[in-house]
Amino acid sequence: MSRHFDAIIIGTGQAGPSLAARCAAAGMTVAIIERHKFGGTCVNTGCIPTKTLVASAYAAHLARRGPEFGFIVNGDVRVDMKRVKTRKDEISGRSNKGVEKWLRGLENCTVIYGHARFESSCTVVVNDEVLEADKIFINVGGRASVPAMPGIKDVPFLTNSSIMNVDFLPEHLVIVGGSYIGLEFGQIYRRFGSEVTIVEMGPRLIGREDEDVSVAVREILESEGIKIRTNAKCISMEKRDSRIAVGVTCDEPPHEVLGTHVLLAVGRTPNTDDLGLDQAGVATDQRGYIIADDQLQTNVPGIWALGDCNGRGGFTHTSYNDYEIVADNLLNGDHRRVSDRIQTYALFTDPPLGRCGMTDAEIRKSGRPALTAKYPMIRVSRAFEKGETQGFIKISVDAETKQILGAAILGTGSDEVVQVLLDAMYAKAPYSVIQRAMHIHPTVTEYLPTVLSKLGPFA
Ligand SMILES: Cc1cc2nc3c(=O)[nH]c(=O)nc-3n(C[C@H](O)[C@H](O)[C@H](O)COP(=O)(O)OP(=O)(O)OC[C@H]3O[C@@H](n4cnc5c(N)ncnc54)[C@H](O)[C@@H]3O)c2cc1C
Repeated sequence: MSRHFDAIIIGTGQAGPSLAARCAAAGMTVAIIERHKFGGTCVNTGCIPTKTLVASAYAAHLARRGPEFGFIVNGDVRVDMKRVKTRKDEISGRSNKGVEKWLRGLENCTVIYGHARFESSCTVVVNDEVLEADKIFINVGGRASVPAMPGIKDVPFLTNSSIMNVDFLPEHLVIVGGSYIGLEFGQIYRRFGSEVTIVEMGPRLIGREDEDVSVAVREILESEGIKIRTNAKCISMEKRDSRIAVGVTCDEPPHEVLGTHVLLAVGRTPNTDDLGLDQAGVATDQRGYIIADDQLQTNVPGIWALGDCNGRGGFTHTSYNDYEIVADNLLNGDHRRVSDRIQTYALFTDPPLGRCGMTDAEIRKSGRPALTAKYPMIRVSRAFEKGETQGFIKISVDAETKQILGAAILGTGSDEVVQVLLDAMYAKAPYSVIQRAMHIHPTVTEYLPTVLSKLGPFA
């Protein structure tokens, strides 16, 4: 015996709940299955809690700079980690409960708590019950990768999930992985008062970014006392009394870093290994990501893959955009495609990095005729007024079409400012539209025309 639905959704990440609501509103019977926390990574162990921690860390940082701004702080600024965690848990918990309440209140939608596994291409088993549907949507997300590095099995280590339970100040946090997640946690804990060392295998931090961006971010982090060890080719772990020795290099001394806690931030693994995909015949790539076409259909008709598990995004906004594409195509007869979206994201260090479109390396590889301009934040009056002058604005445009190819804005407010350029890119507008627009003074955005007036040859 099986229970039949029009649609089954596995996972309540950033695509599943909205898709459930939209399908249910269209009159479909929907089953949505969650095995752990409603809202998934972003809500419980990703964006929301980390940005809440970023806010606490920023407040502490600013408080330490009090005299610069003309106010007095009596004594050292110390962080009460229990209160920091309580604030984070409240904010994250509100979203988690909100998602669950929303789903449980939807007409035509059945919420099932348990681990889902495919039994065939149209059936899924949860808690020994067989559910059947013509349409199945996979939104199972991912988890922190734990590579088989020497000694890893013998030491306690933190991931983005377990660090959410930390309500004390690690004396010395060693972060393995110098990419987006590692850098955000590094600055957060340094500002809380920990000693922090970031260990990165590659020659530079955030290796996917342009070198000038990597270098500037490194300088910002180092200026706050974060130690950075790049070219760490011999990463290993060993318990040493109450500490953990993290092996860094085999040749150049010092060979290791001795910390009290280790955070692993070396990438993500899709939650597809225990999903019975073989029973359904759904194909994955070598890393376990579900192969999905431009409209997010898998190789099996009637099964779609949305969010991090399809390897085509890795962000909350890409997962949500996946939902919009699938829902519009299915319910509105639209023809939306993943390839129509423009790459965009932010690194939420302080100052943040806002990115859209192509990097310099990608522009070079594309062979497009380009012009570029770079402008230091120190010459942006709003940044000066706020006392936050680190970073730069870099914009590249196509020399022939005049359309914006890409931008990297490292500096105060850049996670918002960059989206002005992004929208112009979606509109396929020439950069002159932004150049001739009147913007609000004093803001960082008002400098975009100034930067564009300095466009010159792309080196
Ligand atoms: C530390 C950190 C910070 C981040 N910060 C940002 C940020 O600032 N901005 C941003 O855009 N992105 C950020 N991200 C990335 C973002 O969190 C993810 O891209 C986003 O959550 C992806 O969502 P998803 O829809 O793919 O699935 P997820 O949110 O991962 O949800 C998948 C859900 O499926 C459930 N599930 C899995 N398998 C099964 C099964 N077999 N049966 C039933 N249920 C199952 C899981 O329990 C989970 O609830 C961050 C990630 C991390 C780790």
